[in-house]
Amino acid sequence: MKKLTRSSLAADLKWDNQTPYSTEFNDIYYNPEQGIEESIYVFLEANRISRKVTIHSKNLTVAETGFGTGLNFLITSTEWLHSTSKNGTLIYISAEKFPLRKSDLQKALEQWSEFAELSKQLLDQYPIACEGFHTLSFAEGRIKLILMFGDAAECYSKLHAEVDAWYLDGFAPSKNPEMWSPELFEQIGRLSKPGTTFSTFTAAGIVRRGLQAVGFDVKKQKGFGRKREMLVGTFIEEKDLQPAKAPWFNLPEIPMPDSVVVVGGGLAGCSTAYALAKRGVKVTLIEKEPELATAGSGNPQGALYAKLPVKPTKQGELHITGLLHTLNLLKREDPEQTYWKQSGVVQLATSEKEKQRQQSMIQGDYYPESLVTHKQKEQLAEILGTETQHSGLLFPEAGWVSPKDLCQHLCTYENINIIHTELTALEFIDGCWQLHTQGNQALSATHVVICAAEHTRSFAQTTHLPLKTIRGQVSIINAPESTPLPKAVVCGEGYISPAKNGRLCFGATFDLNGKERNVSSEDHLENISNLTEILPKLGQKISADKDQLTGRTAFRCSTPDYMPIVGPAPVHEQFTETFAQLRKDRKWNFGDAQPEHFQNLYVNTGHGSKGLITCPISAELIASMLCSEPLPLPKELIDMINPCRFIIKNLIKQAI
Ligand code: SAM
Repeated sequence: MKKLTRSSLAADLKWDNQTPYSTEFNDIYYNPEQGIEESIYVFLEANRISRKVTIHSKNLTVAETGFGTGLNFLITSTEWLHSTSKNGTLIYISAEKFPLRKSDLQKALEQWSEFAELSKQLLDQYPIACEGFHTLSFAEGRIKLILMFGDAAECYSKLHAEVDAWYLDGFAPSKNPEMWSPELFEQIGRLSKPGTTFSTFTAAGIVRRGLQAVGFDVKKQKGFGRKREMLVGTFIEEKDLQPAKAPWFNLPEIPMPDSVVVVGGGLAGCSTAYALAKRGVKVTLIEKEPELATAGSGNPQGALYAKLPVKPTKQGELHITGLLHTLNLLKREDPEQTYWKQSGVVQLATSEKEKQRQQSMIQGDYYPESLVTHKQKEQLAEILGTETQHSGLLFPEAGWVSPKDLCQHLCTYENINIIHTELTALEFIDGCWQLHTQGNQALSATHVVICAAEHTRSFAQTTHLPLKTIRGQVSIINAPESTPLPKAVVCGEGYISPAKNGRLCFGATFDLNGKERNVSSEDHLENISNLTEILPKLGQKISADKDQLTGRTAFRCSTPDYMPIVGPAPVHEQFTETFAQLRKDRKWNFGDAQPEHFQNLYVNTGHGSKGLITCPISAELIASMLCSEPLPLPKELIDMINPCRFIIKNLIKQAI
């Protein structure tokens, strides 16, 4: 199989008048004369989508192989918007191994004036061609698209979902035999339930037999137009669930919440409240301080960017997915860019080591140019509008955000009620969480999400989580008029954002042991020294005016592996008991042993200094878990941030 590097992830196509034609597969994307009619006949009617739309008063999940131009998606979404009340969500999942370039997609979509509004939303959010899952939102959240870039069988093997209808598109099996594999059919079976339907334009025996083998009752029916036959079917098998390889990562099944209490009003809490409220869930957000975003999320500006590893890693994938997710959220919520700016981010190679690292990354060719590209110092000087001594990487899509404004904006959403009080303890009594607060306010909830940074450890249920704080100080000053200011965020040892309201914010220090809350002049000097390294003139000017500096100290909440902690709260004692054998044999077969979690208790914390890119996607994950929706991240990333991972690692290390 051809190795997929990230930059080769693009469709090779030519245009035959207005119709896209794949040169890689020698096949058409859709019927040039009757594209819409054929799609309706083969996919919507054969899957009885209009009937499903009316009986699914809540959510409907449709999954597809081969997103292509998105025509099936647009038709199904239009049907959904016309036929349903405002309550439910269409969750459309599609895998695409060779995404169309945005310019090709635009050209294809221009033909369908009937889908103009949805097409515009698709183009606005269309992800950079990076392998992985991308979650897009349409029509005020009434439609969600989980667009998975990568091979269909592989993407679906990482998906957690229950599908109602399958559209098996993709080029014909004779032209694209690799896609129609037993591995793909196995995943289709795994993600189906009794009553799930499928349809496909092909009647090939390999497809019929493949789907029968995984539990579908398959029938042939008349194909569209002059085509003789196509296949349709219904899933009828009762499944024997295979015990999971790492059962501790199994997720609990939970009842759909009417209302949820979110603890903590920083980026994690506000984005969790928003993701739930958007789904129609009533949220009570508890914040102990008199305002939102007073701790780690309270700096005037934060860089919206991810330092990428030389070669793709799971951590890097989470950061890219998160960055693109936050960007789409900001574009939807603040299209005027009032509290953020897509200014671009420049990462300078300030040392020989960093220079080598950047060169290896670019030579590896793992990331598309629209995500990151290498620039010489002269080019950077032009982009930044000020001189620099170093070459570096440009992230053109990235920028900066005012986290506090973002938090406040997310919480203006209807369904969110904010209470300023300190939660002191939680108790699960008679199927409900009783929340004890400083002011003895009587609060209860069926579901709770703790997003309280390091304070998460102050509750008995989550005290075992290995959260630590890292002190950071930013320096703030009125922007000098005589010195050129950067037009993009610039990162070296520290970082500086473009001026906001005439003020410059730069920093931040990184002190693993510091506990001091006051702003210190040593930290200002460290920030100035780092700034001088990246922008010498500005650094020298600020150094001369350093008595005018103000600053802000905050504590990032971090974890031993620098990954956030997101998911259901494990019962520590029960985990250590059930999986005790890991102390002796890390490959022990636990059969059907199941992990135990506190009922309806979730955690979203430990985002360190990357909260702007990891909080919104984590919130989307938590909200999808609580509402039993398909999950927006691949399983390996969900496992990587699962709160139980430290218990398991400690058992293996015999540390507990
Ligand atoms: N459903 C699309 C639409 O509505 O426009 C048309 C799909 S087009 C006929 C087939 C698509 O399958 C192409 O975009 C192609 O890149 C994609 N494809 C081919 N092999 C694939 C694979 N192994 N995994 C995922 N997608 C694949």
